[in-house]
Amino acid sequence: MWSKDRDNCIECGTTERNHQSRGRCTTCHSRFWYHKSPKRREQQKRATARWRKKNPGAAKKISKRATEKYQEVHKEELNEKARKFYRDNIEEMRAYNRKRYHNKKKDESR
Ligand SMILES: [Zn+2]
Repeated sequence: MWSKDRDNCIECGTTERNHQSRGRCTTCHSRFWYHKSPKRREQQKRATARWRKKNPGAAKKISKRATEKYQEVHKEELNEKARKFYRDNIEEMRAYNRKRYHNKKKDESR
């Protein structure tokens, strides 16, 4: 048995993570309290901030993975946003691209 009276986590059904308390795995236990208690939420935020400070490399990796996942999931939305931004700022974008084009030309002729 996974815990003393459960075969798996009552939230996500996993047996991969250890049982924490009241039928929840470690991850679901944290999530449960994060949403339930503002005090625990603050505690968790502080603990996370401390951990990030101590593990900048790992924290950066996690952020990067989260960003990539977000971009993958919201691809269409982000593309549409970029297109809209381009349309709304068409003059600036044209000037920017012109400048880039000429700079590139300059580099090539060097
Ligand atoms: Zn769980």
